[in-house]
Amino acid sequence: MELTALTHAELSERRTTLRDEYRRLKDRGLRLDLTRGKPSAEQLALAKPLLGLPGADGDHTAQDGTDCRNYGGLHGLPELRATFSGPLQVPAEQLVAFGNSSLELMYECMVDAVLFGVPGSTAPWPREGRTAVLCPVPGYDRHFALCEKLGIDMIPVPMTGTGPDMDEVERLVADERVKGIWCVPKFSNPTAVTYSAETVRRLAAMETAAPDFRIFWDNAYAVHRVTGEDEPLADILGLCAEHGHPDRAFVFGSTSKITMAGSGVAFFGSSPANVSWLLGHLSKRTIGPDKVNQLRHARFLPDASAVDAHMDRHAAVLRPKFELVDTVLEKRLGGTGIASWTRPRGGYFVSLDVPDGCAARVVELAGDAGIALTPAGATFPLGKDPRDRNIRLAPSYPGLDELLDALEGLALCVELAAVERLLTSSDVPA
Ligand code: PLP
Repeated sequence: MELTALTHAELSERRTTLRDEYRRLKDRGLRLDLTRGKPSAEQLALAKPLLGLPGADGDHTAQDGTDCRNYGGLHGLPELRATFSGPLQVPAEQLVAFGNSSLELMYECMVDAVLFGVPGSTAPWPREGRTAVLCPVPGYDRHFALCEKLGIDMIPVPMTGTGPDMDEVERLVADERVKGIWCVPKFSNPTAVTYSAETVRRLAAMETAAPDFRIFWDNAYAVHRVTGEDEPLADILGLCAEHGHPDRAFVFGSTSKITMAGSGVAFFGSSPANVSWLLGHLSKRTIGPDKVNQLRHARFLPDASAVDAHMDRHAAVLRPKFELVDTVLEKRLGGTGIASWTRPRGGYFVSLDVPDGCAARVVELAGDAGIALTPAGATFPLGKDPRDRNIRLAPSYPGLDELLDALEGLALCVELAAVERLLTSSDVPA
């Protein structure tokens, strides 16, 4: 039923029905959560053998002879870097394996840029006036929180089906205060878009007023396909070099959603100059990373095809959950004209758009009925969605039964919020 075509009287009647349904939903006393973009216990269990490697009596020596139990090895184990070189599209010698969180490495790079500048800077970033970073929206809330913390201005750029609006990006980088751009180039958070080859080429080739401009290429979902064919991503480092900007891209990735989200391995990849720059800073923080964890990852995932096979097992767990989101939303909201959502082929999220001005109300209604949703606005800098319409759904963590209840409740809240909104609109025929 196309809700936007109903008369005022029909909408009032529909609201009464929906309110009754909502009351019954609340009476169920649910406690459900669609906010957690993290692997389920079933997914984590796929990496259980990792915990036995190399074992108390096992060989703790890496291929280059390093005793992984000892200090050193800041660059990370060569065999693990070789495994992830292909998936992250970074030559192994230009890939650093460090720590367990790529977000931490992004934070490190931003802080070092703000404190010291990057290769090509004439001064630390902010001393050259206020610093701004482009933020494709909707995007990842933690990227925005990091900039906010460091006092970096954020300029939203709309996402399209092929990546950020590149005309807008090329226009904005003509301002020398614009020092960088956040990119989640594959199965993006939350829209699941993979940047087209042309978008990647334009990012690599564009002229920027700032000589020390950086692309923060957060390839968090590089190998995280869920359905069907993988989506190819152009090689950002190679293209930057080809277009005369070898230092432009910082590539990030991790095994957080491959092995164990709390104890994986993170990666940074870039030009030789940027790698030396980062290692120089990291060497002041630590003598070396946790190489025992790197060794067990290298033994568990000896090459890229082992990663691929492992990700097939993840996909088998995730696929029914993503399918359920689409089935329930389609059944309840399809054809109503009040909602649109993504049908991801990979990544961790579904991006739901409701009528303008309704997202916060949907989140409130759902929260009051015991269904936690990511706060409205979270996918925009400073938590401000100018149209108040985007909601990020994370279906990976709950079991299928819980997910079904949460989605049905959510769909009801979307409809109720939309009907309430339509009833306040003067455009609705009497
Ligand atoms: N980048 C993106 C786009 C994410 O969605 C997430 C987690 O949800 C992360 C980074 C966090 O990565 P890590 O666990 O390696 O810090």
